[in-house]
Amino acid sequence: MFETIIKILFKSIIEYKKPESRSFAEIYASYLEENGESPAETSALPPVHEPAMVILPEDHPFCPSVLERRALCPGSYWMEMDLPDVRTEAGMYGLHYHGLIATAIKNSISESTSHLSWQDERLVKKCCKFYRKVVGPDEQWVEVERRVRFMEGEEELYNGTTDIIACRQDGSIVVIDWKTGIYELDSVQDNLQMKAYVLAIMQEFSVKSVSVYIYYPNLNKRSQFTFNNESELETEIRGIITSSKSEGSQLTPGGNQCFFCRAKAYNKCPEYVGY
Ligand code: SF4
Repeated sequence: MFETIIKILFKSIIEYKKPESRSFAEIYASYLEENGESPAETSALPPVHEPAMVILPEDHPFCPSVLERRALCPGSYWMEMDLPDVRTEAGMYGLHYHGLIATAIKNSISESTSHLSWQDERLVKKCCKFYRKVVGPDEQWVEVERRVRFMEGEEELYNGTTDIIACRQDGSIVVIDWKTGIYELDSVQDNLQMKAYVLAIMQEFSVKSVSVYIYYPNLNKRSQFTFNNESELETEIRGIITSSKSEGSQLTPGGNQCFFCRAKAYNKCPEYVGY
C-alpha cells in the first residue's frame, strides 16, 4: 500500500506541467480548433512581429479609436499626452490582416491568393465576399484605408483612418470596419469610433446619411446602422473633446478604458488599479 502511494506521488510529480501563459497566436489557434478548423493547419499562423509591444508613430489624441477612452476617462487625454503609441501582439495581428484585406479589395482579388497561409486566405476571402454583398456588384468608387478629418475652420479637431468607404451605384455611402479579433464590441449605433468616422465623412463628403457595417470575419457576425443625425453626433463628440481638454478633467479607471491606455503601459497613471 505504502509503495503504491509513493509510486502515484512520484508519477504525479513527473507528469505535472506548469501552466504556460499563451500568446495571442496560441489563443487564436485554439479558437480555430474549437470551431472545427483543422488543428494540423493552425501551425501556419503568420509570423508575429517582435517584440510583442511595438512603439508606433502617434495617432491623433482624439482619433476615433480612442474616443471611448476619452469619454470614459476624460483625464486620459492629459495622461497620454507626449507618450508614444504602443501596439500589443494582438494589435499587430489586426494590422497584418487589415493590410491583406486592403490589398485584396484594391485588387478585387484579381491576383492569386495562393501565396497566403490558409488562415489569411480564408479571412481575406470572407471580407471580400462581405464587401461585395453590402456594396453590390459594382460601385461608383471605393477608398481603402482612407484618412478622414473633422475640421473646425482651419483647425483639425481629429482624424482617423477608415477601412473602407464606398459609394454604391445609387449614390449611398457605405463604411465598413473590419474587426479581426475574437471579441464582439458595441453595436454600430453605440460605437463612438464609428460615430466619429461618420461625422468626419458627413462633413468631408457633404452627405447627410452614412451606412456603417462592422464585420467580424472570425465570428461570422456583423452589426449595421445607418446614421442620419449629424448634429447629434457633432454635439456628442465635441462634448467629449471639450471635457477631456478642460483643466482638472477626471481620471476614471475601468476595464474598457485602461486596457489599451498608454498611461497604463508606461506606468504613469496614479489612478490605475489594475485591469
Ligand atoms: S490608466 Fe485608466 S485611469 Fe489612468 S489615464 Fe488611462 S484610462 Fe484613465
